[in-house]
Amino acid sequence: MGNEDEPRIGVFVCHCGHNIAGTVDVEAVARVARHYPNVAYTVDLMFTCSDAGQTHIREAIAEHNLNRVVVASCSPRMHEPTFRRVVEEAGLNRYLFEQVNLREHCSWCHAREPEKATIKAEDLVRMAVARAALLEPLEVKTVEVTPHTLVVGGGVTGLRAAVDIGSRGFKATVVEKESELGGHLRHLSTMYPNNEKAEDVIDRMLIAARAIADIEIMTDSVVVDLDGHIGSFETKIKNMKSGKTVKRTFGAVIMATGFEPFEPEGYYEYGNNPNIITLAEYEKMKSTGSVLRISDGRPPKQVMFIGCVGSREEGNKGHEHCSRYCCTAMTKAACDIKDETEEVMVLYDDLRTFGRGHEEIHREARQKHVMFSKFAHTKKPKVCLKDDRIIVKWKDVLSGTYCEFEPEMLVLTTAMVPPAGTDEVAKLFSLTRSGDGFFNEEHIKLAPLTTHTAGIMIAGVAQSAKDATDSATQASGAAAKATSLMARKNVEIESTVSWVDETLCSSCHTCVQACPYGAIEMATTKDPPVAFVTEAKCHGCGTCAAACPSNAITMRHSTDEQIISMVEAFLIPPPVEGGGE
Ligand SMILES: Cc1cc2nc3c(=O)[nH]c(=O)nc-3n(C[C@H](O)[C@H](O)[C@H](O)COP(=O)(O)OP(=O)(O)OC[C@H]3O[C@@H](n4cnc5c(N)ncnc54)[C@H](O)[C@@H]3O)c2cc1C
Repeated sequence: MGNEDEPRIGVFVCHCGHNIAGTVDVEAVARVARHYPNVAYTVDLMFTCSDAGQTHIREAIAEHNLNRVVVASCSPRMHEPTFRRVVEEAGLNRYLFEQVNLREHCSWCHAREPEKATIKAEDLVRMAVARAALLEPLEVKTVEVTPHTLVVGGGVTGLRAAVDIGSRGFKATVVEKESELGGHLRHLSTMYPNNEKAEDVIDRMLIAARAIADIEIMTDSVVVDLDGHIGSFETKIKNMKSGKTVKRTFGAVIMATGFEPFEPEGYYEYGNNPNIITLAEYEKMKSTGSVLRISDGRPPKQVMFIGCVGSREEGNKGHEHCSRYCCTAMTKAACDIKDETEEVMVLYDDLRTFGRGHEEIHREARQKHVMFSKFAHTKKPKVCLKDDRIIVKWKDVLSGTYCEFEPEMLVLTTAMVPPAGTDEVAKLFSLTRSGDGFFNEEHIKLAPLTTHTAGIMIAGVAQSAKDATDSATQASGAAAKATSLMARKNVEIESTVSWVDETLCSSCHTCVQACPYGAIEMATTKDPPVAFVTEAKCHGCGTCAAACPSNAITMRHSTDEQIISMVEAFLIPPPVEGGGE
């Protein structure tokens, strides 16, 4: 069936059990659709995505000589790949398929207005039919995948990912900016939940990494240049000590750049007394194995911890997130130090030791008589310095009493924030960032490890604040994504990309600046230079086409004509032969 044929469109309207049909009159939508221009076949089906539904589509394409298919069902995110495959199996190009979202966009959000929902469903199907008539087949392209993954960051996340990749027989290069691997675990003493020495955890990972010949480790190094696309990222990696730069090509990238602990300047007199420190600084001291001491050389008799410092604070320096490690890390530190100290007190805004084995640490701390007191979110404790003394005053919200404590050491448990330089890294790798500054995933639920840049994965704290257990879990997930990409050797790239008509391009560079993915460059081999698109980098977002003042850019699969046809179909419904139903 060629594109040159008159469009013969099949419309398949799905009940989705009760999900759509409970609100929308799907039978009426299918009946009315039969009268739209170019529609050769319509039907309503209970579950279009089921085996029976898929078979029905394939048979209808053959029997009614259909060359375009519209399925009105759920979100394309859910089943567009399924239906594209079905039409391909029936001999049609996958881009001659159009999906209408009657569930999320109609029945679910208009559940209380079934008549209006049915009218909207008819509008949506009519618009999709108009667009389908103008759809064109597109070539399905593939690119080769270099079987080598770049891992940026050599903390627990980066090392876990590299070991997983290497042990499956693929190459991985870990690029770490510091001289030592291990990230923040290098500066922790013992870790929750199993009290293991952080150093031992990292050393185990390092032994595993060094035993695999396919893992290359580059310390004191950063990626200074990145070009290319999924399957073939060309990089320059600079050793900051020697100044030498090497070139490497990678098929996939895992970003594991982690975090840095928030420096709580301006909080609780931090910086104004040497015995007021952060939990990260406290852990660093403890990790040397020496006894904890205050500035005059004595072990402290009273230690106080304050939680949520710079965390969960709306509009304050942007740290609105919960860092998800701190309640348990603080409780564990308090529990451990109680063995060496007379009095230990924990002040918290909220406290939730939420992981497996974490609540036991909280219970043990209480059994050891660590004192816990809750302050109000809106009324933080006050710290006053008198000579060398630290005096903390607050209201305990559970008893309603005003309290005062004089710790010899005050430990502030601070948020995790993105490391310095994250902005430049985000630009280099074309990654977007969330409100808290960490890298954005492609989809928070459905694609938490991939990013909007195909072939680049994120894991560990680089994605959002979390502890080492969750970081390692994500690392293994990202490594699995990278290995499955490398094992395929070739990867399909989207054909719904932009295309430049060189004869219309006015060399203004607007599209180059507008493209968020760095997919457009000026071909300097032409005089004057014209814009060209690297298709493997293009995400089909349409920003360039919208920005181009010369109308030289077309979005394949979302052409102006296709979009305008939908608007017209909505505004000017075609006359319905035979008076409608
Ligand atoms: C005080 C404290 C106590 C904690 N206690 C525990 C605990 O007991 N149990 C637990 O499970 N978790 C704990 N955590 C959390 C744990 O530290 C993190 O979950 C873990 O370190 C995250 O690992 P990561 O590899 O994602 O990030 P990181 O440890 O931050 O490692 C990232 C690495 O990437 C490198 N890097 C950054 N940018 C670049 C770049 N551009 N190029 C190259 N390299 C780069 C960094 O130098 C670093 O080595 C604690 C955290 C803190 C702050």
